[in-house]
Amino acid sequence: MLSARELKTFRKQLLGWFRQFQRDLPWRRTRDPYRIWLSEIMLQQTRVAAAIPYYERFLERFPDVRALASAPQEDVLRLWSGLGYYSRARNLQKAAQQIVAKHGGEFPALLEDVLALPGIGNYTAAAILSIAFGEKHAVLDGNVARVLSRLGAIRGDLREPRRWQALQKTADHLLESKLPGDWNQAMMELGATLCTPRSPQCLLCPVAQFCEGRKQGLAESLPEKRKKRATVVVTLAAAIFADGKNQTLLLPPPKNTKEKALADHVPTLVSQMWHFPTLSVSGDAAEELLAHLHKFIPRSAKPQWKLIAAAKVRHAVTYRFITLLPFLIRVKRLPLIAGAKHLPLDDISQFPVSNLTRKAARAALATAAAVAGKH
Ligand code: SF4
Repeated sequence: MLSARELKTFRKQLLGWFRQFQRDLPWRRTRDPYRIWLSEIMLQQTRVAAAIPYYERFLERFPDVRALASAPQEDVLRLWSGLGYYSRARNLQKAAQQIVAKHGGEFPALLEDVLALPGIGNYTAAAILSIAFGEKHAVLDGNVARVLSRLGAIRGDLREPRRWQALQKTADHLLESKLPGDWNQAMMELGATLCTPRSPQCLLCPVAQFCEGRKQGLAESLPEKRKKRATVVVTLAAAIFADGKNQTLLLPPPKNTKEKALADHVPTLVSQMWHFPTLSVSGDAAEELLAHLHKFIPRSAKPQWKLIAAAKVRHAVTYRFITLLPFLIRVKRLPLIAGAKHLPLDDISQFPVSNLTRKAARAALATAAAVAGKH
């Protein structure tokens, strides 16, 4: 803990540095809670540079809470397509609908109301309330926790509940209550630009003189590594139909239990977006996929399909490592599957699809071109 005098200097130096060196980011030019909220949700799992064009496109289409609340979910997901973690977009829209229904379209300014919105936890609520409304709430996320662990030379797993609570107390203690929004952004900026996970730039740090981690030569080794969750390996097989005009078919996200059963064991990353008929496989992928497809097609149709294996697609998300085996199936006419949409294989992004689905389409297109070249 810093003395009152040290605390004053600490705040002054950090805020002074932030005013001079902060990056010019589009969400820093506004106090509109909707825009700040959107930026915070986008930045949860996405780098700043990658988020900016999405942020701008999203606001062009949905300039306020009401526009977002009343839009078709597909439009929202399409504009999110490529950012990943689509539950963020779904929750964003659900929250917008609640804001319209319960708060007349005005973003709530009370902590309990904000926390009641889907997809908003302590960190996001504190960020929105402090930046948009000047409320005294200190933010704590992985970024800020790293800075605090270095400043205080705190060892151990920061996400351990008691330690996390202690970090929140420290963040609350440091908060500059006259300028909570600037303060929180300054802490985040320090973590994002100087006190980075690797090679912190302590020589440029405005608060280096207060940093215990630096004094003890621990800056680079803090925070200590968390125990890793075991990796889950998933193998999927996807059926990519293509007719003579290279039209393919995509299935919608499952709506009811029967449809959910068909998408059973397929990671939500794939099945919650528009996707090729896909299933999780453990043995002969082509055989299992064919059996799966027969569930969609009336038995009487008995199609004779030849499955051509395209190049494997790999994708890692948090602790899951996915290998997707795309199979190209050339058909005269696309099979009729309830809810499926037909569209060009080289333009599937007109529907909200995951990156994995996009990669599978590319692999199938390459195979289709190679097969065509042989004939
Ligand atoms: Fe981070 Fe280095 Fe500053 Fe300490 S001195 S807060 S480790 S950048």
